[in-house]
This record gives sequence, C-alpha cells and structure tokens, in this order.
Amino acid sequence: MTTATLTIDLPAITANWQALDKLSTSETAAVIKADAYGLGIAKVGPALAKAGARRFFVAAAEEGVALRRVLGSGPEICVFSGHMAGDADMIRTATLTPMINSVDQLLIHVESLPGHPFGIQLDTGMNRLGMEPAEWSAVRDIAIAQKPVLIMSHLACADTPDHVMNQMQLDCFNEMTQGIDIPRSLSATGGILLGEKYHFDITRPGVGLYGGLPFVDATPVVSLDIPVIQIRDVTAGESVGYANAFVAKSETRVATIAAGYADGLIRAMGDGATLTYDGQPVPVIGRVSMDMITVDISRLAEVPEHLQLIGLHQSVDTVAGFAGTIGYEILTSLGARYDRVYLT
Ligand SMILES: *Cc1c(COP(=O)(O)O)cnc(C)c1O
Repeated sequence: MTTATLTIDLPAITANWQALDKLSTSETAAVIKADAYGLGIAKVGPALAKAGARRFFVAAAEEGVALRRVLGSGPEICVFSGHMAGDADMIRTATLTPMINSVDQLLIHVESLPGHPFGIQLDTGMNRLGMEPAEWSAVRDIAIAQKPVLIMSHLACADTPDHVMNQMQLDCFNEMTQGIDIPRSLSATGGILLGEKYHFDITRPGVGLYGGLPFVDATPVVSLDIPVIQIRDVTAGESVGYANAFVAKSETRVATIAAGYADGLIRAMGDGATLTYDGQPVPVIGRVSMDMITVDISRLAEVPEHLQLIGLHQSVDTVAGFAGTIGYEILTSLGARYDRVYLT
C-alpha cells in the first residue's frame, strides 16, 4: 500500500469541544465549514452532535445542504455567507439559517422566504463580512422586527490577546447591539480564550476543535503516517530531487516517501521541515514533489516502513511553521488521496 494514512481521532474532537464549552457559560456551537476543516463532515458532524453541539456554522449554503444530510433535522445550521441570490431553495429545503450580511441580503431573504429564520452579521472593524455601523443603524429597527435568531460579529485579531483591535471590536459590538434582546455571538476559538466579556450567548469555535492553535490545550486530533517507497544511499556530491536542490555533503541515506504537494504537503515546507520516526526527527531534503518527498534518514538505526509528518511529536501548527503558514491551511489542504481512518 502506498497511500499515506490520515488518522482522525473523533473522541479528541469531541473532547476539544467539551473543553472549549467548559471555558464559558455560553452555548458552544461548532464551526465545520470547509468539510470540517478538511477532516470530513460526515464523521465530524454526527460526533459533535452526539457530544451535545446543537448549532453548527458553515461558510456556504451548499455546505449547509451537505451537512443537513448527515445531521438530519434538529441541529441548527447557520451559513456565514448569508443569503446569496439563488440560495432560497437550499435555505428552505435544508432548513438553513443564513447570517444576513447586508441590506441587499435582508431584502432577498424577507422577499423570497418570509418568516424563515435568519441571523444578522455585523462588521465591527474587520471589513470582511457583515453590516457596518451606518448601514446597521439605518435598518436595525426593521431587521429586529423580523426577529433574527442571532446577531454575530467576528474578531480579526483574537489570536493576539494583547491586540488593541480586540477591545475596539468588543466595544463596537456592544454598541451596535445595545438594548437588543436577541442572542449574540462574537467569539471563535481565539475569542473564547480572551475571557468572559467576549463570550456573549453563543461561541463559535472551529480550529480548536481540530487540535489547532490558538487553543494551546487542545488534544491532538490528526496524525499522518506516510509509507516509505524506496531507500538508497548517496555519496558526497550526489544530488537528490528536482533542480538538484539537495547535494549530499557526505554519505546520506535517503528515504522516498509517498506523499507530496498533490496531497496538500505544500512545496514551501521543504526547507527545514522534519518528519519523525518513533519520535526522532528526520529532515526533509530537496524539493517536495507532487507525489513524493525525500528524507534524510541517515541517523536512524533501522529501516522505517513509515515516517510520520503530523502526530504527537509534531502538531499541525509545527508543520504549518515549516511552510510559513497556519494550522488552518495545513488542515484544509489535506489531500483526497489519503487512506482516512477514523478513531471512534
Ligand atoms: C471560521 C470562522 C469561525 C471559527 O474560527 P476558528 O478560528 O477556527 O475558531 C468563527 N466565526 C467565523 C465568522 C468564521 O469565519
């Protein structure tokens, strides 16, 4: 077998949800957009529902439809992108709750689906999604009369606790929602860790569920074990891989392993990246290829059958660091070729 094994620990995901839930007295939702951050809604959705999550967030109506199929009726499914032209059928048939982002969306929604539940997304400074303060004050009374089920906003800098932006957005959110008796939600994983003032009625963790930073206390969720296809010894002066990017300075034992950038192991992680064998780090050498990576295993006493990229010895965020990116991107890039094994 030459496909790598991606092991996804569902009890670890539910343990992370429970741990984040304990950090506030609010209702804890679950963000499972982008196919549960690449880990698979078909398994992750029901596991979280069973653990007690009653409200889920996805990015687009299409994702909501797919999630409704796996969850069945009951849990609320909220859609961050709101109500886009053409979404009405999906929103109605899958009973989705769009987070309305603009006056235009509000009109589309109340005209096409009068009485259908919706939420409101406010922009408190991130300038990405949601109604800005001026727009909101113009439609606030009309919107509130339609009884939105939730009013939310999103923090731009919550993973940097000392950032002045956090307090600014908090103040803005409080001001924009003052005197409104509707459940409010401001915080994703990072905001939960900022403390009680940021919690409001509903929290929306995503990455923390999947074992990623900024939730430092997360239980690891993912491990990625990659089979060794071939081993060779090269002598000083010989090169390895495309563009001769690695040239051996001395006798080097090279393992070629069966995963590459087509599996989401982006080329940028080449320099300085390591895999592990029994906890021992072994360095990547040369360029990451589409389906293969070459690794210097000279220091190993035995011939490994697999090397591990992600797991107990190297977190998703460690691997993200190799590539100058964030754990979110590594998770959501994990390829379709892996043999996915779910621990239950
Ligand atoms: C993705 C997202 C979340 C979850 O964020 P994490 O940092 O993964 O916890 C919450 N709210 C919004 C609006 C999002 O886009």
